[in-house]
Amino acid sequence: MWRGVTRWKPFLSGASMIRIGWHHPAKLLIYPIRNNVDGEGRQLVNWVCDIETPQYQARDWNRRGRLEDFLPAMADWHFDWLDVPKFISSSDAILEYPMVDQDPLPRWSFGRLTLLGDAAHPMYPRGANGAAQAILDCRALTDALSANADAVAALKAYEAKRLPATAEVVLANRKAPPDAILHEVYRRTGDKPFKNIDDVISREELVALSESYKRVAGYDKERLKTRV
Ligand SMILES: Cc1cc2nc3c(=O)[nH]c(=O)nc-3n(C[C@H](O)[C@H](O)[C@H](O)COP(=O)(O)OP(=O)(O)OC[C@H]3O[C@@H](n4cnc5c(N)ncnc54)[C@H](O)[C@@H]3O)c2cc1C
Repeated sequence: MWRGVTRWKPFLSGASMIRIGWHHPAKLLIYPIRNNVDGEGRQLVNWVCDIETPQYQARDWNRRGRLEDFLPAMADWHFDWLDVPKFISSSDAILEYPMVDQDPLPRWSFGRLTLLGDAAHPMYPRGANGAAQAILDCRALTDALSANADAVAALKAYEAKRLPATAEVVLANRKAPPDAILHEVYRRTGDKPFKNIDDVISREELVALSESYKRVAGYDKERLKTRV
C-alpha cells in the first residue's frame, strides 16, 4: 500500500469518496480530509493505492514510497474530474506499508492488565474499521468496570465480550470486506468499462455484500436500533 495526502482543488461533490479498480493493476481510494488548507480553497485529500505484488518488506511506518514502484499501474487513469497521475505526483509525501494484520489472540487480559484497540486486534485497513472497533472496546470496558467491583473479573468480562467480536472482524477483513464489491465487479466485467452498474450487479447483491460486513462489524441498522 502506498499512501499520501495531496493539496488539491475540490472535485465532484467536494466530499466524494472514490474507489477505483481492483489490485490488478491497482486499487485506489481517495477522499478529502480537510477543507481550504491554503486560503485558496484547496483541500487536503487522502489517498491510498493497493497493488498485489510479491515484493515484501517488513512493516515500518516511516518507509518512504517511490512513485516509480506504483504510479505506472495508473499511468492512463485520466478522468474529466481528476488526472490521477498528476494528483498522485503532487502528493506532499508518500509512505509505503505492507498489507498486514495479526491472527486473533487467544486472550487479552492478564490479572489487572488488558489490551484494547490495535494492540488487541490489528486488522487489514479494508473496512475503515480499526478505530471504530477500538471505540467499541472502550464502551465495553467502561460497562464492565462499572458493573464489576472486582477489576480482574471486569477485565475478563470485557474480554469475553470483545475478543470474539473483534476476531470476527479481523477474519472478515481477510475474506469478505466491504471492498469485496469491487472485486466482484472486476471479476464479472473482466475489468472492461461499463455504463451502468445495474447491468453488472443487482441492487440486492450490492446490499447483501455490504450488509453482511455491517453485521459482523456491529453497525447494521437493526443492531444499532436495539442498543441502549
Ligand atoms: C492511514 C490510516 C487510515 C485509517 N483509516 C481508518 C478509518 O477510516 N476508520 C477507522 O475506524 N480506522 C482507521 N484506521 C485505523 C485506526 O487508525 C486504528 O485502528 C486506531 O488508531 C487504533 O487506535 P489505538 O488507540 O488502538 O492505537 P493507536 O492509535 O496506534 O494509539 C497508540 C498510541 O500509543 C502510543 N505509544 C506507543 N508506544 C508507547 C509507549 N511505549 N509509551 C507511550 N505511548 C506509546 C503511540 O504513539 C500512539 O499514540 C486507519 C489507520 C491508518 C494508518
